[in-house]
Amino acid sequence: MSRFFSAKYAQLVPYVPGEQPQGRTFIKLNTNESPFPPSPKAVAAAAGAAQRLHLYSDPDARALREKLAQVYGLAPEEFVCVNGSDEILNFAFMAFCDESHPAVFPNATYGFYKVFAALNGVPYEEIPLRSDFSVNADDYVGLNKTIFIANPNAPTGLTLPLEQIERIVAGNPDSVVVVDEAYVDFGGESALPLIRKYDNLLVAQTFSKSRSMAGARLGFGAACPRLIADINTIRFSTNPYNVNAMTMAAGIGALEDEDYTRSCIAQVCSTREWTTQKLRELGFELNDSKTNFVFAAHPAIDGGILNAKLRERGFLVRHFDAPLLKRYNRISIGTREQMEAFIAAVNVILEEASCVAR
Ligand code: PMP
Repeated sequence: MSRFFSAKYAQLVPYVPGEQPQGRTFIKLNTNESPFPPSPKAVAAAAGAAQRLHLYSDPDARALREKLAQVYGLAPEEFVCVNGSDEILNFAFMAFCDESHPAVFPNATYGFYKVFAALNGVPYEEIPLRSDFSVNADDYVGLNKTIFIANPNAPTGLTLPLEQIERIVAGNPDSVVVVDEAYVDFGGESALPLIRKYDNLLVAQTFSKSRSMAGARLGFGAACPRLIADINTIRFSTNPYNVNAMTMAAGIGALEDEDYTRSCIAQVCSTREWTTQKLRELGFELNDSKTNFVFAAHPAIDGGILNAKLRERGFLVRHFDAPLLKRYNRISIGTREQMEAFIAAVNVILEEASCVAR
């Protein structure tokens, strides 16, 4: 820390993203990226937009919001586009949380929520998950605090049925409920149809996972126009050109190729089922994930040790040190070939540790 760093950030512990390795080639199963490239339509649209990079991008993202409205059956005024869904999560902490509206989220969820709370000086409370890692919706009713729920949740991979999300939204009419649907396309139930019924619901989604565009940084929020206007007040006070022109064009291209997206999702889901079964056969404990990753622990090998051994063999997966999570590794679903190689490596590691479950 330099002597110039503001004292208000002195205690800030930044979010640590999953490793993006340089030099050595790994099979990368650590950041929940898609193993497939973006749609060719997205790539072509981005290349076209590159010709016009001398101009600022549209601060209102009109064409993209119109396309989103068409695809999701909503109105353009119900959308805001952002630089990855992390950005709208931060905007939501800025816009809807303060001393009188502290943030609330589960005690095992997306690690960035805590960081955004700290960055914005917002008090927060963590509500324990049940022992099976599920969210108990009853714990979130009548809180009068700003609630952040990842659905499906990360890193557990579990999903809450829509009626329970609705109970939480209806049960907190005077505070905003942010439903982070980064992984919803892999088997969750989206709360988007509820945004016309509830003026306190903000749904966040991303193009990073199901639309294979993590590197482009594109996400969106959907909510009633008044909530969207609040987010825009924050956005225009931060960076009106938050989504660059190539990304915006790529986003439209991806939305014009929903068949491609659906086919990528289907492949990830079927490979996830295959991987889950193979890991169970090897003695791992894991839930039925509704995401593009699985969260698995083995009774006979420490999560951190397994992570390090996989790394030695050229596989990156994600390990979290938090006491509740440290037995586990979060394994993103790659291509079928990558997952076959991964299972083979896990098999060897378990055999070396002579702990294959029989
Ligand atoms: N929410 C959750 C639950 C996530 O896991 C991620 C990805 N790390 C994000 C939001 C943010 O994704 P992005 O900024 O790439 O849209």
